[in-house]
Amino acid sequence: MPISENLLHIKSNIPNHVLLVAVSKTKPNNLVLEAYNAGQKDFGENYVQELVDKYQTLPKDIHWHFIGHLQSNKVKYLTPFVYMIHSVDSFKLLKEINKQAEKNKRVIDCLLQIYIAQEETKFGFDEVDCMALLQSHEFQALKHIRICGLMGMASNTANTEQVTKEFKSIKHLFDTVAKSSLVSFAFKYLSIGMSGDYELAIKNGSTLIRVGSSIFGERNYSK
Ligand SMILES: *Cc1c(COP(=O)(O)O)cnc(C)c1O
Repeated sequence: MPISENLLHIKSNIPNHVLLVAVSKTKPNNLVLEAYNAGQKDFGENYVQELVDKYQTLPKDIHWHFIGHLQSNKVKYLTPFVYMIHSVDSFKLLKEINKQAEKNKRVIDCLLQIYIAQEETKFGFDEVDCMALLQSHEFQALKHIRICGLMGMASNTANTEQVTKEFKSIKHLFDTVAKSSLVSFAFKYLSIGMSGDYELAIKNGSTLIRVGSSIFGERNYSK
């Protein structure tokens, strides 16, 4: 199906308050433009160089979300323009984002990545570390970042029960943080759900979904 129809299909399937981020990693500019021309404004990428290249050549009103693992030494390439960083998985990284954002006279919206999967390869904070971070004075002193929610990646499994359990655990943490006085009104995004599980994610409280292959088709990494 054409990209515009895929977008329409997903949009008609999700409530209005859920933000759809179209994950365009590995996809060429012409396909991103096709989605853009169909009204899509939020796009997600997970490689710094690819994102910078796309930012430079595609329309400037696109909201670019960085969703991949980010190394501190690459933060400076994103801070001039990035719309939101979903994958903040250490205090060191958050401090670097704050420092580079200050240089750019910006406040950068960030999500804290929470480790919810059973797999060992996924990055993120656990619940205890997340709360400790938010409560620390060092964190509260960072004025150029704004924590807008949490991000998590469930286990890559067809076991719906397992995935549901993981979604519920991050939703519980999300509610705990949201009710606390540690974050501002901006704390509203629970970024869980991808092509295979976004409906389940929304049932479990997701307010932001990151969808790639259901919009652009399968990715080909061989090139
Ligand atoms: C690639 C990717 C997605 C999108 O995956 P699909 O299954 O193609 O929807 C979502 N989130 C992250 C962090 C990704 O790297």
